[in-house]
Parts: sequence; C-alpha cells; structure tokens
Amino acid sequence: MPARATYAAAVMPAPRAAMRLEQLPLPALDPGGALLHVTYSEVCGTDVHLHHGRLSGVPYPIIPGHVSVGTIAALPAPLNDVEGVPYREGDVVTFLDVHGSCGRCYQCLVTKQTTRCPSRRVYGISYGVRDGLAGGWAQAIWLKPGTHLVRLPAELAPETFIGGGCGLVTAVHAVERAEVRVGMTVAVLGAGPVGQSAVALSALSGAVRIFAIGDPASRLEFAKRMGATDVIGLDVPPNERAELVRRATGGHGVDAVIEAAGAPDAVSQALDLVRDGGRVVIAGQYTDTGDVLIHPHWQINRKHVEIRGCWGSDYSHVHRAVQIAARFGERIPWREMIGGRFALADAGKALEAVERREVTKAVIVP
Ligand SMILES: [Zn+2]
Ligand SMILES: [Zn+2]
Repeated sequence: MPARATYAAAVMPAPRAAMRLEQLPLPALDPGGALLHVTYSEVCGTDVHLHHGRLSGVPYPIIPGHVSVGTIAALPAPLNDVEGVPYREGDVVTFLDVHGSCGRCYQCLVTKQTTRCPSRRVYGISYGVRDGLAGGWAQAIWLKPGTHLVRLPAELAPETFIGGGCGLVTAVHAVERAEVRVGMTVAVLGAGPVGQSAVALSALSGAVRIFAIGDPASRLEFAKRMGATDVIGLDVPPNERAELVRRATGGHGVDAVIEAAGAPDAVSQALDLVRDGGRVVIAGQYTDTGDVLIHPHWQINRKHVEIRGCWGSDYSHVHRAVQIAARFGERIPWREMIGGRFALADAGKALEAVERREVTKAVIVP
C-alpha cells in the first residue's frame, strides 16, 4: 500500500458553507511521523459545531475528522508504541487527536492539566487545510512527529472502536473523574455517544443502578443495551425525573451524575439528582450554550456536593478506550451506534444526518 502523490479530502471551507472535495498533495514525510490510509473517521456533534462556527480558534478551511482509524502506509523512521514495540506499515491504528501539548508551560508542568495546554492542536479541529492532510475525512492523514498512535489489537474490529469513537474516549475520562466504583448508583444525562459510553463504562465499573436520562426513546432503548437499569425521557418534567431517581435510591439521589447532555439546564438537573456528598461531572458543555440558574444553598452548599469539570482527553484515555473496546466489544454494542456510512463526497449528508439526530453516529469511509 504505497503512498500516493495526492489524496482526496472532504473540506469544510467556512462555517455554514457546503463541503467540497479537494485533492491534496502528499506532505513531506518527516521522520517521527506516520502516514495513515484512513479506514474510518467519525462524524460527531463536534463536527456539527464546527459547521455552525461554534468553536473558537478553528483555522477554516479545514478537513474535519478527529477520531479516526487507519492503516499505516508509510513510516519515514522507526516508531514504537508505549510498550516499545515498533509500528510497521500495515498496522491498524488510531491516535490521540491532540498534538503538540508542549510539556513546558504552566498547565503541562505545574498543574499537570495537559488538556488545558495552550499549545495543543487537534487534528480535524484546530489544524486546517494549510497544515496539509490533518483531518480524518480524507483518504489519508499525515500524523506529524510527536503524535501518539495506539495499535488496535487483532481482536478489536475497527468498526467497534470507531462506533465508540470520541464519545468512548470522553466517557473514559468522565467516568474516571466521577470515580465510579462497584456498588455505586449513577445517573447519566444525555443519550448521545458520550452518554451511551458513560452508561456502558459505569456498568463495567460495577454500578448497581444506572439511570439514563435523555431522548429520543430509541436512544433510551439503546442505553438499556449499553447497561442502563432505568431510563427516563425528557418528556417527564425535570422535578418528576428527580423524584423518580430519589424514590429509586431510598430518597437519597445517586452517588454520581455524569452530565453529557450539552444543555445548560442539565447542570442544574444534575445537582438535583445527586445525593448529599455525591459527585457531579460536567462533560457535556463543550460549547457555550448559555447560562443557567443554580441555587447555591440548596443545590451545592447544603448538599455538600462535589462538582468537577472534564475537558478534553489525554493519551491515557485513548489507550484505555482501545483496551476496553477490545475486551468488551462483543458484549457492548458500540459498533451498532454507527447509524450511517458515508463516502467522502457525501460528507455534507453525514453532517446533516448527525445534526438532525437521524443517527447517533455516522462514519466517513474514504
Ligand atoms: Zn503545555
Ligand atoms: Zn468527536
């Protein structure tokens, strides 16, 4: 599978502009990087936000596609995985979509919040066409030197990993932040890709009661297959949802709430669902969708509650997501989350399908 002179890519020229196909030249293959021939690249809510111009610092035109799976087509210099095993041409891999965390700044070195490093760039989001083949909605992606690759084990079908995709990676981080442990009760707000995987990972962590709260009904049905013990639709008024959860937990509320809904209201709801002294993780407020009224006395101080944000992912979350998908991919239907497969030329249709919520997840098959 030799590298070719040019590769087709689906380009998002500007917010709200129609997608177009372009041919991009093979970049300079600098030692330390890797050229992937893309097998799948996902289409998620972030791509819809990109198309609406709702993320800051995006250097349009861009090739979207952050979480992707591909086959190594060229390795200009030897490259090892974290175990020291060399990558080879033909290996099926994914990668941490974040590149360039500096290791020298206040966030990287002092507070160890590498996901807040100001130097970090994200393939398909903050790298643009002027950076070359730097997004997954293309026949190939050039992973610059310093990109962290992860090999997919032989038993892990690429469809399973990409079905989980960035939602699975984010959920690994959110469930880690929530410190979900065996025997706990959990509520997950939002039934999109992050919420679905947060339900599955809570179940794998040993949570005994998992409430999935969201819509539409089809996604709640799917959440049951991911491990939810109880589902509540958004047609139930918020105070009744809280009452249902309290009644099912001896009047207490749940030990942990993972917010993966995106609506500001969900944060207030999370504080109503959590028990006294419980933990709330906010993972869904990825874009600015406004503010919400919180009652600090009743909802936070008096409840002695702990609130944690969850921003971005680091290598550990992708690494663990791959191992989890490999181990549990037969039991948990990640691959069925893919509701549509689209060619590069149909990337615009894929965006529409995700935006209209016709599918939970779409993938581009270049
Ligand atoms: Zn840094
Ligand atoms: Zn995504």
